Amino acid sequence: MKTLALIAHDGRKAELVAFVKDHYAFLRNFKLVATGTTGTHVRQTGLAVTLKLSGPKGGDAQIAAMAAEGKIHAIIFFRDPLGKHPHEPDVQMLLRICDLHNVPLATNPATAGYLLRGMQQEYQHQQPS
Ligand code: PGA
Repeated sequence: MKTLALIAHDGRKAELVAFVKDHYAFLRNFKLVATGTTGTHVRQTGLAVTLKLSGPKGGDAQIAAMAAEGKIHAIIFFRDPLGKHPHEPDVQMLLRICDLHNVPLATNPATAGYLLRGMQQEYQHQQPS
C-alpha cells in the first residue's frame, strides 16, 4: 500500500477536508500521514491517518525526512499563498526534498485532482483483472 502525505496551512484546511471528502473512496487505498492539526481534521472524515507533529513544531520536516527515505509516494500540500508562517524554512525544505527525490507534490486542488487521477490509473493497472 502506498503512502500519501496530507498537509494544509490553516487558511486552507477546510479546502483540504472538502478535497478529501470528494476523493474519500480512492484515498482509502492509501496509508495516510499528515501534520498534526491537518490530520486531526482529516480524521473527522472517517479516514485513518497517522499524525506527525504540527507543522510549526516540525511536522513538515518529519514528512520531508520520510520523503527523502522513500517512505512517501506523493504529497498533497495546500499552502496558504497569502499567509506568513514561522516554519517557512521547513516548507521550503519539503519542496526541495520533493524535487530532489522526484516525489509528486500538489499544492492546490486542481493539481491534486490530476495527481490522484494519475495514481488511480496506475493503481488500476496494478490490480489483477
Ligand atoms: P498543521 O501543520 O497541520 O499542524 O497545522 C501544517 C503546516 O502548517 O505546515
